[in-house]
Formats: sequence, structure tokens, C-alpha cells
Amino acid sequence: MSSLLVTNVGELVTNDPERDGLLGVLVNAALVVEGGTLAWVGPAADAPAADEHVDAAGRAVLPGFVDSHSHLVFAGDRAPEFAARMAGTPYAAGGIRTTVAATRQATDEQLTAHVARHVAEMRRQGTTTVEIKSGYGLTVLDEARSLAVARQFTEETTFLGAHVVPAEYAGDPAGYVSLVTGPMLEAAAPHARWVDVFCETGAFDADQARAVLAAGEAQGLRGRLHANQLGPGPGVRLAAELGLTAVDHCTYLEDADVDALRDSGTVATLLPGVEFSTRQPYPDARGLLDAGVRVALATDCNPGSSYTSSVPLCIALAVREMGMTPAEAVHAATAVGAQALDRDDVGVLAPGKRADFLMLDAPSHVHLAYRPGVPLVVGAWLAGRAAVAI
Ligand SMILES: [Zn+2]
Repeated sequence: MSSLLVTNVGELVTNDPERDGLLGVLVNAALVVEGGTLAWVGPAADAPAADEHVDAAGRAVLPGFVDSHSHLVFAGDRAPEFAARMAGTPYAAGGIRTTVAATRQATDEQLTAHVARHVAEMRRQGTTTVEIKSGYGLTVLDEARSLAVARQFTEETTFLGAHVVPAEYAGDPAGYVSLVTGPMLEAAAPHARWVDVFCETGAFDADQARAVLAAGEAQGLRGRLHANQLGPGPGVRLAAELGLTAVDHCTYLEDADVDALRDSGTVATLLPGVEFSTRQPYPDARGLLDAGVRVALATDCNPGSSYTSSVPLCIALAVREMGMTPAEAVHAATAVGAQALDRDDVGVLAPGKRADFLMLDAPSHVHLAYRPGVPLVVGAWLAGRAAVAI
């Protein structure tokens, strides 16, 4: 078992709560990896020897990004819809059906190749943990195979049969919910860790969401929700009431929603790529943080409302448009992203944690927002193995 020393790190973001500041930053630092796990973190001058050696030459090293919300299993794209939207057509949940039709026609091999390409794109931008949802199959077979494809790339797979009511059930939404909570769930559950519902006008209401989450939990799946994306609604309060790990979007919140999130500890995952791509107003990250809510950032990478795989873009948007400091945004995309997946082995660089980290061609994390659009990630390591070589 060989060990790896990464030294001369100008700024090491640890997110270790035992260290000072939100990011637990160490300057002139080093870390040592053994067997895929961090064995040592501290000042470069005190670093123990190791078999292999990487000289960071003063660059910054951060925990790998934890992208807790993506929809990578799909076929086709919706560039014409995007162009139409930029020309003034509003976004509506029903556009999902376009992707459903393309996904159902794709072979397993095509879907797998498509996910592989997008995961590689994420790695190059520093994402080391990614959650992937189903939700473009919407039949028993297509949801199960979507999740089987996703499972090849991550343990964090989410059954989203309740993404939208497919066209063939347009006159019978209750029948579709019965399918989702019955045979579809049964076929999906072996491939999924989480169950999710798009709780929104035009998708599923609170009672339907409650039924899907309860059925999922009975099959051992943990619940999460898409809520309050397109307008105010009951989803965020439902997530808080049920004590879900995370509720995602949170764009249109009332005071009672914010209070419920603070009291429940449910992570509010904000997805600014969506507001960027739909010209909706951005969620109020500043208000949530000031109220004491845990805030995560993720891409929501999907072909309709946010076709970006870039966590650095989301960090830059969160800082520029949502009132977050660079430190808060980085923390939200690493440590809190891990909390949004109930993971305590990633998102923090400390002895015993998984050696998932990235290197920037920059001296500090601030450059992620200060130099938007610049490909600053020059290295990414997954369990100590170089996934992106410097
Ligand atoms: Zn989503």
C-alpha cells in the first residue's frame, strides 16, 4: 500500500470544525494519503515522508466538490427550448416530457456512455462525489434501468419516478402515483439510496409527495424533495416536517418556510444554474444563512433547466448573485453538500476521511468566484487516486 504526500500547499481548505474559521484554512500545508484515506494533515514543515510526492507549488487544495443534485441519465438535449426561453418563452415543468421521449428510445449503452461523458466533465471541474437521479424514464423498466446505469458511477442514486406525470397518464395522475409507489418503486429500489419528488404546481402536490416518500421509506429509501422552485408551495415545509436530509431549489420561500428549515436542520440545497438558465430570480442564500439554515450548492445538471456540470460556476453565481461570501459558497459546495447526502466521509479534509480533494491553479479558494469561467481545477483525487492529473 503506497502513500502519497501533497506538499507546499499555499492554502489548504480543510472544512475541519476543529480548526479556525468556516473553512479551517491552513497555509503552507501538506497532507498524506494512505490506502485511499487521509492519514495526516498539517504544516508542510512537519509532514512525514511518503512513497509518492506531489509539489503543489503554492497552489490551493480544497475538498473535492460534492454535487448533491444532478439528473445525468438522459438522452438528447433541449437547446432549441433554451433558445426559445432566452427569446421570451417561460420555463414550465412539462418540458421534461421532451427528454422522457428521447431517454426511452436510448439503449442502455447509449445512456451509460452519456453519463460517463458528463461524469468525466464533472471530474475535470473538481467534483468527486455526485448524486444522480432517475426521472426521465417514467416507466417501470426505464426508471429501473436509469438507476442501474447511474449506479455504475455513484452510490448516491435517487429514484425520481415522481418527476412529472408522463403523457400517457395525463388524464390519470392518481394512477401514475399508484404506479410510482407500487411496481416502479419495487423495480427501482434495489438500485437507489434516495427517493425524490418534484413537488410543484404542474408536477406533484403535497399529498402525492407524502405518499411517494412514505412508500419509498417503506422500501428503505431516504427522502428528499424538489420544492419551491417555480413559486411558493408546501414542499419546503413538508420536507422540514418529515425531517428530510435535504430539500432542493428553495427559490420562493416565505418566512414560515425559513423558520421550518432552521428548526428541522434540513439542508436547503440551492441550484443557481437553474435561475441562470431560466432567468428566474435567484434564491435568497444570504437570508437563509443569516436565519441559521444550512445551505448547500449543487448544479442540478439536467438538459432542461440547468445544463451545467460546473460547481465552480455555481459558486461564482452564489457569490455574485446570492449574497454568499466566497468562503460560504465553497463550504456549501463541499462540507454542506456532503451533509445534504448525509455523508461524513467526504467534504472535509482531516485524518480518517476519504482522500477526495482538488487542486486549483490559484493561491486561494477565493479565485473560484474572483475568476469566473476560468478552468482553475488542475487536479482532482478520488480516494487518493488522481482522477484529473496535474
Ligand atoms: Zn433537479
